[in-house]
Amino acid sequence: MPVIIQNVRTISTAPEGINLTIVRVETDIPGLYGLGCATFAYRHLTVEHLIDTYLKPLVVGRDASDIEQLWQLMHQNAYWRSGPIQNSAIGGIDMALWDIKGKIASMPVYQLWGGKHREAVAVYRHANGADFEELRDSIDRIASTGVTHLRVQLGGYGGGSYREAPKAAPQGSPRGIYLDAAAYMRDTLKMFKRLRTLYGDRLRFCHDVHERLTPSDAIVFAKELEVFNLLFLEDPVPLEQQEWLRRIRATATTPIALGELFITTNDWRELISERLIDYARAHISQIGGITPARKLQLFAEHYGVRTAWHGPGDMSPIGHAANIHLDLASSNFGIQEWSGTEPPNAVIQAIRAQRGALLEVFPGALECREDYVYPNEKPGWGVDIDEERAARYPCDDSVTLWTQTRGVDGSLQVP
Ligand code: MG
Repeated sequence: MPVIIQNVRTISTAPEGINLTIVRVETDIPGLYGLGCATFAYRHLTVEHLIDTYLKPLVVGRDASDIEQLWQLMHQNAYWRSGPIQNSAIGGIDMALWDIKGKIASMPVYQLWGGKHREAVAVYRHANGADFEELRDSIDRIASTGVTHLRVQLGGYGGGSYREAPKAAPQGSPRGIYLDAAAYMRDTLKMFKRLRTLYGDRLRFCHDVHERLTPSDAIVFAKELEVFNLLFLEDPVPLEQQEWLRRIRATATTPIALGELFITTNDWRELISERLIDYARAHISQIGGITPARKLQLFAEHYGVRTAWHGPGDMSPIGHAANIHLDLASSNFGIQEWSGTEPPNAVIQAIRAQRGALLEVFPGALECREDYVYPNEKPGWGVDIDEERAARYPCDDSVTLWTQTRGVDGSLQVP
């Protein structure tokens, strides 16, 4: 029996000060609806407009059961395909359709893909500090909750934060995140030496270059980091410079994770089939949702490439839950980035002062216990939204600043 889509709505909310966009797909069966995450924090009004104006009229009246067909319909409808705005909009609806599918089956979504491959999902957390002491405090706080895998960063990605132009920049250079590659590489190597002395093998670390090095520096850096046995080095080169990964592979054994900027199949096909990366890190809504993510994951399985889906703060608990469901059912799951929610705990509350707000807006949000996130076994994603509470946290529509990343001479480079 068909399940007819009757309405599609977007809900925007920022309980932690980060813009989140939720899609709600409503059906003709009373009480049956699905939720998806279409979050694109810095373009949220545009994504919402696309859903409301073009995708809603396209899918209303159609059968919510036909997920693959609806995905292709949305993907092909504008003639020009893909792109981060369009993918986020499609991804939010696609995720909501999988939620509906799970609710119809009275099963958590991971059951639809063959069930659990593991009881819970191993995660890593993010630790950062303006200096080493601050970083160490951040690591100790997180480690005291039982977490043993951490991504460690000193002074922000690439060692920079948003500020006035430094003295070394030409006069008249604008504000921005000024990067000094040599200092960043030197400080990071020193940081890992000190971390090894402090923590030995008790904790396992990964590190994100965030594309903030030239490819030739990245080759040297990946080699120098070998001795620290990282879980992985993330985004050592920009996605557009992926050919350089062959050179990194040829000289360094440091495992490579890449992919939070993936948009289309063309971005990952060769990286995976040529085994140029160890972990694929797609941001699921940015590649168009669960339907393409599941295909990516199965494709990667054939080549021994594992998944480490992007799980940042600019993703709703519904998006995080979708990551976790994929992880539960995948044989080639590696590790999950987790910036989501955790049980009430004094230590964690200090880490995330607004934690309560996120949980109050998203009832059922999955929680992290020590090294693992567990499913809640409710049908669909198992996460809901309280719209009344969501409305208490309006989004910020201003233009973001953090992407104005500059080299020492003040010129812009990818953030
Ligand atoms: Mg990253």
